Amino acid sequence: TSPVTVALVGNPNAGSTSLFNALTGAQSAVANYQRVTTSLTAREVTHRGVTLRIVDVPGFFSTSSQSPEEKVGCDYIHGEEPDIIVNVLDAGHLDRSLFLTTQLIETGLPRITVLNMMDEVRRAGIRIDTALLASALGSPVVETCALKKEGIDALLDAMAAMALAAPADPLRLHYDSHLEAAIDRVQQHLSKLHPQELSPVRSRWLAIKMLEGDDEVLRHESNHVELVEDIKGEQSALAHEHDEDTASLLASARFAFSNGLLREVRQQEGDPTAGFKLTRI
Ligand code: GDP
Ligand code: MG
Repeated sequence: TSPVTVALVGNPNAGSTSLFNALTGAQSAVANYQRVTTSLTAREVTHRGVTLRIVDVPGFFSTSSQSPEEKVGCDYIHGEEPDIIVNVLDAGHLDRSLFLTTQLIETGLPRITVLNMMDEVRRAGIRIDTALLASALGSPVVETCALKKEGIDALLDAMAAMALAAPADPLRLHYDSHLEAAIDRVQQHLSKLHPQELSPVRSRWLAIKMLEGDDEVLRHESNHVELVEDIKGEQSALAHEHDEDTASLLASARFAFSNGLLREVRQQEGDPTAGFKLTRI
């Protein structure tokens, strides 16, 4: 049987390469400051009888990143479709990390969420409700400290289990009704153009990326002139309705989701705003 491809995906400096080394016994260079990884490194590991091809994907902040450092990882997610995404989060900075997560959810690919840097989290007195996070994100959550090689076996277990399990139903983020209607129309157009190849999740994701103005996806569809014209029409209708471009509308909805989720799952000891009450003078 062919190996199961597992991609480590996260923001730069979330600890992907450290995890990759701990998982595979490799000795790749770890960034002390910024972006050491510039190309993809992969290694095979067999765990509980499952051969996993683990890929260290260079970090990026958004699936529509255009900077050269971020494009490698971004293009990988668009083009390669790994069997499993391991979304590596800097658990000490969940506010930054969850924005990418909202976009990875939309790829529909099976995901494992890793809360790395748990040593920092404990030191800062932050508590994270992992059970709630797991159910909200529709993925197992594994806590790790790559630096001390903690949680590595649990992560390998989660990968092997997911490789053997039937895929779970993908989740979707719900946008406002104008956006949803536009997504729906583009999705139908796409499904007509590619009737065989596109699953509903995939066509929804492509529709969202096109409405967002993603260069890569638009270039891929550039020979479908009518579709490209439709997208422009949808974008200007949305701009008219909302006074905001479509990319910002999508980004605001994703931030709203991740901020709302964060309020539910994270508590900081001694946080002056936690349990704050007004009393009568
Ligand atoms: P990448 O950019 O996601 O590949 O991140 P790296 O693996 O290069 O790690 C970035 C920095 O974070 C390095 O200095 C690592 O030593 C450090 N690091 C990685 N994992 C942990 C962890 O669990 N705890 C702490 N405290 N530091 C970590
Ligand atoms: Mg790296």
